[in-house]
Amino acid sequence: MARAAVLERLIPPRVSIVWHEATVTEVVVESRRARTIVFAIPDWPGHRAGQHLDVRLTAEDGYTAERSYSLSSAPEDGVVAVTVDEIEDGEVSPYLVEEVRAGDVLEVRGPIGGHFTWSVDEGGPLVLVAGGSGIVPIMAMLRHRARRGSTADVRLLRSVRDPDVALWSAELAALTPAEGLQVRTTWTRRAPDGWDGPTGRITEPMLADLGPAPDAAPRAFVCGPTPFVEHVADLLIDLGHDPARIHTERFGGA
Ligand SMILES: Cc1cc2nc3c(=O)[nH]c(=O)nc-3n(C[C@H](O)[C@H](O)[C@H](O)COP(=O)(O)OP(=O)(O)OC[C@H]3O[C@@H](n4cnc5c(N)ncnc54)[C@H](O)[C@@H]3O)c2cc1C
Repeated sequence: MARAAVLERLIPPRVSIVWHEATVTEVVVESRRARTIVFAIPDWPGHRAGQHLDVRLTAEDGYTAERSYSLSSAPEDGVVAVTVDEIEDGEVSPYLVEEVRAGDVLEVRGPIGGHFTWSVDEGGPLVLVAGGSGIVPIMAMLRHRARRGSTADVRLLRSVRDPDVALWSAELAALTPAEGLQVRTTWTRRAPDGWDGPTGRITEPMLADLGPAPDAAPRAFVCGPTPFVEHVADLLIDLGHDPARIHTERFGGA
């Protein structure tokens, strides 16, 4: 375990720090406030599931703002896509969700990140826990798993406010049942009509029931707003999961 943690720190992430001109080829409406922006980037070096890119916006007066967005496309998809969830009082996400159109050219750099990544070659078992738009890098992992026909043991628990802001419910339903893959949802504010599954914040029993047990030495990937990630990581540790095998990605905000 310790060796794996050390290796992760030693292996440099495949960071390309050059800024690319990325042409928007498509904008997909994913929910009331989320859009997938698909880019064509001629010199894109490829990416791993779980990596992100930075977007830089520059105003006419030269003011710039940079934000990170996880890649939602699988490495196999041949396109570079991010999925942005609009933060109402945000500076960058409202522009990306409301204004960006096909044909626009944005500055991006990446792929970035080596810690929160997974390849089917690394196998399972995996525990994936997503809060809100924290599903984005995890979706890239699930798409990668599906494209490669992997049967690795993967369990996803996503926490979603209400059905109006849920991302990829239909795609997740289409991915399951599949050998080795389980997907569960807990609704924190409003569940769909007729729902008889979990509701409310993620609890220790929910994670214990999701499995696999710590004895199986799963790797865990937890992504979402900072308080969500800290809450879930603490619960996993309380359940006996090895902290060195818990990978976290914090999206900022409450
Ligand atoms: C590695 C990484 C990957 C990311 N991937 C994604 C992604 O795939 N999709 C995505 O939508 N976002 C992602 N984010 C978050 C993204 O970078 C921005 O923080 C987010 O879009 C808000 O930017 P903004 O300029 O609109 O808001 P800001 O102007 O930066 O913030 C405005 C207000 O919203 C709060 N806030 C900021 N971010 C969030 C948040 N995520 N949730 C709740 N409140 C917040 C701030 O505390 C502040 O009060 C990622 C962040 C990181 C670090």
